[in-house]
Amino acid sequence: MSRLSVVLPAYNEELMVGKTCRVLHEVLAEAGISYELVLVDDGSKDHTWEEILKAGGKDSNILGVHFSRNFGKEAAVFAGMAQATGEVVAVMDCDLQHPAETLIEMYRKWEEGYEVIEGIKKSRGNESFLHKKCAGFFYGIMSKATKVDMQNTSDFKMMDRKVVNSILSLPERNMFFRATSSWVGYKTAYVEFEVHEREGGESKWSAWSLIKYAFTNIVAFTTAPLQFVSFGGGICFVCSLVMIIYSLIQYFRGHAIEGYTTTILLLLLIGSAIMLSLGVIGYYLAKIYEEVKRRPRYIVSQIIHGNKDVTGSVR
Ligand code: UDP
Ligand code: MG
Repeated sequence: MSRLSVVLPAYNEELMVGKTCRVLHEVLAEAGISYELVLVDDGSKDHTWEEILKAGGKDSNILGVHFSRNFGKEAAVFAGMAQATGEVVAVMDCDLQHPAETLIEMYRKWEEGYEVIEGIKKSRGNESFLHKKCAGFFYGIMSKATKVDMQNTSDFKMMDRKVVNSILSLPERNMFFRATSSWVGYKTAYVEFEVHEREGGESKWSAWSLIKYAFTNIVAFTTAPLQFVSFGGGICFVCSLVMIIYSLIQYFRGHAIEGYTTTILLLLLIGSAIMLSLGVIGYYLAKIYEEVKRRPRYIVSQIIHGNKDVTGSVR
């Protein structure tokens, strides 16, 4: 049994798979760590799976999982963790933006007895000003909700077998991996790393997918939007009380204001506030609907171990 499993979600990473496997092999072999690489092809549209098969042909420590379609990074990470057999499991990106050397540093921390080792970004790389501000806002909310400092956390981490089993036992479909690993608790260490430039391929995150990601995870992990809606409702209520009293006084004094503008403004304001609130509640409802359907998180179409096809065999 290998001691370290490295889970690598890969979506359209044909340019990076071979290189990542080579680099990890070099670094881990040199450090004398026995390992397996669990590459999860998240329904790529390019030749990522062929590259994984090729890498598996060369190295029997490679396990490849092929999804039937794109299920998203969280699902890929989850599938990789479910397949990993190591005593300790690391999760890192397949594009070498998470440096392999940091993996060794994390492993040493694990040997010291830490159960979760979180990778913390030293800087956010060359992201745009707006991107950094939005990320700051998003992680601010998440930090409040999880009561853990989420600023600069990443999906790069190492977890003891116990922690992996705890995470795998959580029943929810909408999983925010970055926060879940701290939510389960355990003895945690932090290791800083510098985000490397992507060497090949491109980032899969558009501005729109980031907004969706942020909103989905805020909803999956917190009730902050619901509190915001209630709070907004409270403020509207207080304002309307003031308006009512003011209008009544004016009425009894006999100079009621001619009210077209006020009326139409109030109607529009309240109408949109109600729509917005309903939208937020609806979003939660949709998430609950997804959860109660209890569909699988992902569908695996093929699994390989080295050069063998092990689809269907129980590991
Ligand atoms: N990824 C994935 N499924 C997706 C999108 C991304 O498995 O739907 C993987 C991707 O292959 C990479 C990691 O998640 O290994 C991080 O993605 P990316 O490099 O695009 O994100 P960035 O580094 O720009 O935040
Ligand atoms: Mg990347």
